[in-house]
Amino acid sequence: MATTDLFNRPLRDLRISVTDRCNFRCVYCMPKEIFGANYPFLPHADVLTFEEITRLARIFTGHGVEKLRLTGGEPLVRRNIEDLVAMLVEIEGIHDIAMTTNGSLLSAKKAQALKKAGLQRITISLDSLDDAVFKSMNDVNFPVAKVLAAIDNALAAGLAPVKIDMVVKRGYNDDGILAMAEHFRGTGIILRFIEFMDVGNTNGWRMEDVVPAREILDTIDARWPIEPVEPNYTGEVAARWRYRDGQGEFGIIASVTMPFCGNCTRVRLSADGQLYTCLFGTRAHDFRAMLRDGASDDEISSMLGRVWGNRADRYSELRSKNTVQLKKVEMSRIGG
Ligand code: SAM
Repeated sequence: MATTDLFNRPLRDLRISVTDRCNFRCVYCMPKEIFGANYPFLPHADVLTFEEITRLARIFTGHGVEKLRLTGGEPLVRRNIEDLVAMLVEIEGIHDIAMTTNGSLLSAKKAQALKKAGLQRITISLDSLDDAVFKSMNDVNFPVAKVLAAIDNALAAGLAPVKIDMVVKRGYNDDGILAMAEHFRGTGIILRFIEFMDVGNTNGWRMEDVVPAREILDTIDARWPIEPVEPNYTGEVAARWRYRDGQGEFGIIASVTMPFCGNCTRVRLSADGQLYTCLFGTRAHDFRAMLRDGASDDEISSMLGRVWGNRADRYSELRSKNTVQLKKVEMSRIGG
């Protein structure tokens, strides 16, 4: 039985950030000017061990968690991350383990190791097929070709379905929407367009920089007519659309213009064991302290029951000029 919150939303998903570090400096996530050489990243001793993460995930299944996603920062910069996957797979009640990555470190060998350990699915972020645009967005001069190679490695390893996340930021890559759609249509790879979100306080978010889902859909529909598809399950993040000519589907994650808080079943654990009940969270619950102060499984479980049971977040539904300024957790701390 899943524990429900104050709006009767059950707990189902745990997103685990395994590191706050990343080898990219995406302009909408970890802008270089802020996340530079002097940025206070977490000291290693503060980061949860694989054993601590696994213990929490196991306890959380008692409240309904059945799906896990490893994220970051960049999850593949955490050494031997496949060992964590292998530990999580053993937890009774976990049916699905996925990862979101920028793909930069996804060699053929790594993809196979992840698959062998039990990773089922992978989402790879790619904001443009144009090298100059992509490099200007990742801000570390990383080329498109290497991400395309990572996608091939994921496919070859059987990490299916492979999904591609494209954050659309006005004036940066919105002119590449059709090129991305064309590249992935008919391949079985599911492209998802993500509205630029006001996560954290450091990415200089402005409403003018958001390309609304409606505009993205109209752009695609004018080229290849599309129609909506029923969600796979209640609480699915991306709204599903398909090409009427049978060339597959794509998704839209429109947290800004079409909020989906009403169905949100996700809880998020930062690399240092702080639990957030919303991507736009302002309040952390310190599970690392419980783990390291010798709390029992029952005590940790009761704490989660209280946190989720009292949850009333619906940030995206309440978004306004005032909420944008709230002191929110950074995306690099809790992942997407
Ligand atoms: N480093 C990994 C990656 O790049 O996929 C995982 C972490 S990253 C924070 C997860 C996803 O969040 C990526 O697809 C990224 O593009 C997206 N993202 C980051 N900041 C965002 C923002 N402000 N608005 C929308 N999506 C964002």
